[in-house]
Amino acid sequence: MTTSRAVAPVKTDAARAKNRAKPRGSTDGDSGRIRILGAHQSIAGGLSRAVDRAVETGCHCLQVFTRNINRWDVSPIDPADAEAFRQAVTAAGLSLVVAHDSYLINPASADPTLRKKSIDGLVVELERAALLGIPWVVAHPGAAGDQPRAEAVQRAADGIAAALAHTRSLTTGILIETTAGQGSCLGDSFEEIACMLQTIDAAGHADRAAVCLDTCHVFAAGYGLSPKQELDRTLAAFDAAIGLERLKVIHANDSKRERGSRVDRHEAIGQGKIGPDAFRLIMNHPRLAHIPLILETPKEGADGKPCPDQDRGNLATLRGFMAG
Ligand SMILES: [Zn+2]
Ligand SMILES: [Zn+2]
Repeated sequence: MTTSRAVAPVKTDAARAKNRAKPRGSTDGDSGRIRILGAHQSIAGGLSRAVDRAVETGCHCLQVFTRNINRWDVSPIDPADAEAFRQAVTAAGLSLVVAHDSYLINPASADPTLRKKSIDGLVVELERAALLGIPWVVAHPGAAGDQPRAEAVQRAADGIAAALAHTRSLTTGILIETTAGQGSCLGDSFEEIACMLQTIDAAGHADRAAVCLDTCHVFAAGYGLSPKQELDRTLAAFDAAIGLERLKVIHANDSKRERGSRVDRHEAIGQGKIGPDAFRLIMNHPRLAHIPLILETPKEGADGKPCPDQDRGNLATLRGFMAG
């Protein structure tokens, strides 16, 4: 490593192993059970700055955008920056990094130009993630617009399968994210996502396609998360439609809006309509024990500027819910 971007201190293998084996504040005491908790972090100032932000806030997993998500055109990643990022992730002992795709991407689009751009966009997302050593790109399945819903679901699935086919040599895959079903957005039911996965699996990409469940989105889409019977029912529905073994990441967000509102507005953990009881149940549910949780909660402090204390507080709240 020769560039000046390598800011992370060099650690010995033993130090790294220690770091990884004992992520800060993540065990529940007596049982030594580990929950992998982290947050989405900004890449402002360079990709590796996201890793610094993860370390500063006590994350042991991380989500990033690998590019400006509001633009189609994207400049390639400098291989030295990719190397610095991978080294920073290793030095920080992060258990998992995932990427989130651009919000412009809509593989379900009935407009051939936009759909082609979207498939190409997914390919770029997969290639960038692979270069950064990131195993999964979290992707929204898109929106139907005026199309019949079933047609849009099929188009989305075919589009995702096409992007995976274009990147056959890569191991990086796509996590289809559950959505709130706002507007004509697809993916608000487990059955709809299962339908997409069937097509993707049939095209031969089963090992590179799985699911990210967003707590705010499923709640806004109508699924219950508390009391325990409601969470059990929601997980049973996921298991029946998709299979819990395909749940790879949970986005842990409370919701500003009520259950079934179909409005996607994230809130700090325990302070929204989902509430603390649901997150306590999620943190201690045996079927979710091994699934990493990633916050996408508001980051602004009282002055409206990003403040690391927000993530620190939300992570502490989640850790506090773990039964001792
Ligand atoms: Zn999310
Ligand atoms: Zn959301």
